[in-house]
Amino acid sequence: MGGQRVLVVGAGLAGLRAAEGLRAHGYTGDITVVGDEAWAPYNRPPLSKEALHGDLAHEKLAFRVRSNAADVTWRHGVAATHADLAARLVRFDDGEVMGYDALVAATGVRARRLQIPGPPQTAAARRHVIRTLDDAVGLRAGLVPGAKVVVLGAGFIGCEVAATATTLGCEVHCVAIDPYPMVRPLGPELAAELQRRHEKHGVTFHLGVGVAEFVGDHHVTDVVLTDGTRLGTDVVVEALGSRCNDEWLDGNGLDLDDGVLTDTALRPVRDGAPVDGVAVVGDLARFPNLRFDDRALRVEHWSIPTDTGRRAGAVLAAYLAGDGYADAVAARWDVLPSFWSDQFDIRLQSYGMPGLADADGIRVLEGDLSDECVVGYHRGDELVGVVGVGMLRVVNGYRDRVGHPVVG
Ligand SMILES: Cc1cc2nc3c(=O)[nH]c(=O)nc-3n(C[C@H](O)[C@H](O)[C@H](O)COP(=O)(O)OP(=O)(O)OC[C@H]3O[C@@H](n4cnc5c(N)ncnc54)[C@H](O)[C@@H]3O)c2cc1C
Repeated sequence: MGGQRVLVVGAGLAGLRAAEGLRAHGYTGDITVVGDEAWAPYNRPPLSKEALHGDLAHEKLAFRVRSNAADVTWRHGVAATHADLAARLVRFDDGEVMGYDALVAATGVRARRLQIPGPPQTAAARRHVIRTLDDAVGLRAGLVPGAKVVVLGAGFIGCEVAATATTLGCEVHCVAIDPYPMVRPLGPELAAELQRRHEKHGVTFHLGVGVAEFVGDHHVTDVVLTDGTRLGTDVVVEALGSRCNDEWLDGNGLDLDDGVLTDTALRPVRDGAPVDGVAVVGDLARFPNLRFDDRALRVEHWSIPTDTGRRAGAVLAAYLAGDGYADAVAARWDVLPSFWSDQFDIRLQSYGMPGLADADGIRVLEGDLSDECVVGYHRGDELVGVVGVGMLRVVNGYRDRVGHPVVG
């Protein structure tokens, strides 16, 4: 297999795990990973949690690279601008064009920004997002005791930042169009309980409203809501979801509606047929998961880069070896997404896809909502997800009951 090259675009967790997965499945040729951040792959979840309290040094967040991937070539600070899948070439913003025998697309997502008039979308203008280590460093400087912080969005990251900033002594207002924080993944009852716990710690919510205007010349001084409320602010955090980093794949006939549509072997799909020699991994991939059904979905959970990286490694190694490819492609693919979140003293642990549940399919399975509990999310009779509030061992016990693992 000498002389072959795998090009991995995106140097995050999924890119790293794909490189390790190729080696684990016997690929011995060249692997080059190119990423646009200055950093080697690092762990993002602490950026909205404990890392904001203390040391945001890269070496504390960096992933250990497994020994099988020690010979991978890394290029940091370089962005892919265009891939030509027919010619098997990728162009980068430093002018270089690299060819490949197999390609891994691992460019993840970026934070969605609010497109309304006002000061520029920069940390200097006190408008923050939190996706990268550099974002976190910029935000942390503003989270001083007494600072007025307006968090826009009450999803996982918005709620985590609200909790962290409150703990750091900031006065926090959290604004969201939804009726409850984290209502989409948790359902109304648990979400209402989460809101109550945040409020007990001092977070003020403004729910069911949007943002009308940012006021300020060089930096935001006030946020005006659609109901007319005006919130004075020192720091704005836009935690409004994500946009996929897929522009570099434009022009190849792929389905890029919400990330890159793939088959169960993580090969991108063009005109209904998979593109061999290419794999899409991590947050960027929209794949069918037969544990639930054949509908393709993107899942922005920390477990997915590892699962998809391993799968891509197996499929591409077999493809490049010219041996066992059909079997690798046909292998079962029924991953169990998992997610955790830390907010104040609350540890949420989720398995499966709670968002797939019927509106009337959400029930407390163990414990009590006002204390520690496990909530089950059902689609008809099928348990599609569980969320534990505390009760870690108990919620772990439900893992094998979630969805329909495919047999054979
Ligand atoms: C603040 C925060 C907190 C989180 N907390 C949790 C949590 O508690 N639990 C949980 O399960 N998950 C959490 N997540 C989600 C989890 O971190 C992600 O699912 C995971 O990082 C995805 O890995 P990835 O490699 O697919 O993408 P990323 O880690 O985003 O890596 C993609 C890389 O590609 C780079 N890139 C983009 N475009 C290009 C280009 N054109 N050329 C080259 N490189 C490019 C990006 O800059 C980035 O470095 C959190 C995420 C964030 C941001």
